[in-house]
Amino acid sequence: MADEPDGTKLDGHHAMHLETGVALINALTGSHVHGRPKPALGGHDLVLAAVEALGDARSGNGRVDLLAAERLRNLASRLREIIESLSRSEHDQAAGLLNRMLVDSKARPYLHRHDEQSWHLHFHSPEADLVQQWAAGLAVSVAAAFGEHIPHRVGLCAAPRCDQVYIDASQAQIKRFCGLACQNRVKAAAYRARARRSES
Ligand SMILES: [Zn+2]
Repeated sequence: MADEPDGTKLDGHHAMHLETGVALINALTGSHVHGRPKPALGGHDLVLAAVEALGDARSGNGRVDLLAAERLRNLASRLREIIESLSRSEHDQAAGLLNRMLVDSKARPYLHRHDEQSWHLHFHSPEADLVQQWAAGLAVSVAAAFGEHIPHRVGLCAAPRCDQVYIDASQAQIKRFCGLACQNRVKAAAYRARARRSES
């Protein structure tokens, strides 16, 4: 690890944001998961899904109500669009979308200190509400990842009828599926296809 060139690792704060971003994308957007259609969420289910995706990261100003959940879904859709562009190697398109997100989120660096904690860098103003905080934090973290060649590490599941997003943290960066469910599904389909060919 020591001889790893600088700049290939994402700062822990950004990495945490990226994980939350992926959780929001998978929870709130997409039409298929693991080969099954994914119902569009509304009302209380949407709020629950947003709260669950934010998890422990849900600190800061304000709670998640329906309007906030809808705004988070909008944010997740924009992030998905960027990742889908990257998965098609449309880097210019992705950079343009991300630049627009940075502007819209009004992201700006700001040193902040909560009570007894030490000073640390935020990317939103102190008045920002929960969704504005996430919009700014996610836009900056995805932009930071963009410069770190992370495009190859955030991907769209390659299995049929699944549009979940994953983070590939492996050194070799060979991950293609959102998880074992899809990997096994594709393996089983290939096995069945081989079996059919040998029968005929
Ligand atoms: Zn999948």
